[in-house]
Amino acid sequence: MVWQPFEVTSPAGGERGIDERAGKAATAGRVHTIVRGADVVTMNDAGTVLHDAAVAIAGERIAAVGAYADLRAEHPEAVVIGDGTGLVTPGYVNAHQHLTGDRLIASCIPDAIDSQDAIFGWAVPVHSAHTGDDDELSATLGAIAAVTNGITCTVEAGTVAHPDRVAAGIRAVGMRATLGQWGWDAEGVPFGGTADEVLGRQAAQLDAMPAGGLVEGWVTLVGHDLMSDDLAVRASELARSRGVGITFHISPHTGDPASYLQRTGRRPLVHLDELGVLGPHVLLAHAVHLDDTELDVALAADVAIASCPWAYLRLAQGFLRHQRHGEFLARGGRLALGCDAENAGDAVDVLRAGALLVGVIRDSASDPFVVNAHDALALATVGGARAIRKADVIGSLEVGKQADVVVHDTAGPQFTPRATDPVRQLVWASDGRSVRHVLVAGRHVVGDGRCLTVDLEALRDEITQRQRRLLDTHG
Ligand SMILES: [Zn+2]
Repeated sequence: MVWQPFEVTSPAGGERGIDERAGKAATAGRVHTIVRGADVVTMNDAGTVLHDAAVAIAGERIAAVGAYADLRAEHPEAVVIGDGTGLVTPGYVNAHQHLTGDRLIASCIPDAIDSQDAIFGWAVPVHSAHTGDDDELSATLGAIAAVTNGITCTVEAGTVAHPDRVAAGIRAVGMRATLGQWGWDAEGVPFGGTADEVLGRQAAQLDAMPAGGLVEGWVTLVGHDLMSDDLAVRASELARSRGVGITFHISPHTGDPASYLQRTGRRPLVHLDELGVLGPHVLLAHAVHLDDTELDVALAADVAIASCPWAYLRLAQGFLRHQRHGEFLARGGRLALGCDAENAGDAVDVLRAGALLVGVIRDSASDPFVVNAHDALALATVGGARAIRKADVIGSLEVGKQADVVVHDTAGPQFTPRATDPVRQLVWASDGRSVRHVLVAGRHVVGDGRCLTVDLEALRDEITQRQRRLLDTHG
C-alpha cells in the first residue's frame, strides 16, 4: 500500500484560508491554542500538507486547520505554540509498549543472551520485584520518554501488579493510553491465576477505566501459549461485549507455532480463529512467524498487528527472513507500529520504528515502489489509529478530532536544507529526537523538547536508586 501522493497547498487566498479537505473552522468552544508550523502535515485522506499554516484548538479538539495569519487574526487571544519554522504532524500512535518491567532497567539486559535467560534470569525476577512505587515511576518515565518523542497514544502491552499506579503515572504525564492488567492461566508461572480470576481482574479494569477517558481499559493478556482456550475465548468475548480492544503477544519467534502445533495440532492463528477468538477488536502483538494460511486468516478475521521491528532485530528473532508484515499491509491489513520494551528495541520512538519497518519491507521485496516514507508516517499516525480502532478520534489533523499534535524542530542539520517533501525528510533523515512541542487532547505536555507536566530532573535521583535496588537484588 503506497500512501497516495500528497499535495502541498498554500492556504493563503482560499476561503478564509481554511483548506476544505483539512476541514472548516468549527464553532465548538473558544480557541485557546494555535499550533503553528512552516508545514502542517494533516494525514487526512487527501494527504494535504499546508504551508505557513496552523491548527486551532478549542477544548480538547481541533477547531480549525488553515492559514496561520487567518487563524491568528480570528483568535488574537489564543496562545501560539511554534514559531512558524517547524513541521507539524498528528501525534504518533505506539501500539505496543511495556510501561513497567523494563523501564527502570532500560538497556541493562545484554544483547548476547538466550531468550530463556532473558525471561527467567531478568524479566520475571525484576517484574516480580516491582513495588507499586516502582510501577508508577516506571510508567511515568515511560510516558515521558514517549511524549518527548511525539507519541501521544500508547497501547500498554501489559502490566502485572499495579495497573492503578501505572494509570496514575500516565495521567500525570498526560499521555493517551489503553491499559489492562496482564493475566495468564498457565501453570508454573508467576502471577498465574485461574481463567475466572484473570477475567475478573480484566473486567474490574474495564469498569475502573471506561472508554473515552485519557486512559482506558483494554483486555490485555500475555498471550503466547500462556492462555488456555477457555481464557482466550472468554477474554475475547469480554472485549467484544464491552466494545473495547484486546491485545496479546503471538509468534514473535518460532516458539509459539511449535508450542501450538504440539498442543493443538494447529498453528496459533488457525487455532485461535477456530475458537472464535479473532476479529476486528483484536490487536496481535508481533505475529512475525506466520505461514500462508495464518496470513489469510489474519486478513479474513480483520485482526490488527502491532509490528515492533527494533525488538525483533535486538532479540534476533528472524524478522528479516520471516516477516509477513509487508504482505499483510499490501493486502489491506491494519498494521501499526510498536516499540515493545526498553530491553527489546529500547528506543520509545515510533518514527524510528516506522523508518526501519518500511526499509525492511522495501528491501525484502527488492522493490522501491511497495512502500515509502509516507507509508511510514501513515503507520505512525492514521494507520496506527485504525489498527486500534480510534481513527474517528485521533491519527490526523482534522476538525473535530482530538488535538493530539506534534511540532518538530527543523533548525537542526537533519532538516537543512529543507527538502521539497517534508515527510520524506522527516522519516529518512530525522526521528523523535527533533520533537519540540507536543499536545495531547489540547494540553501542552512537551515544550521546547522537555516534558512540561512532570519534571524529569526532579525524579532522576529516585530513578537511579530504584534501578540500583532492582539490579542489586534481582538483576
Ligand atoms: Zn511485548
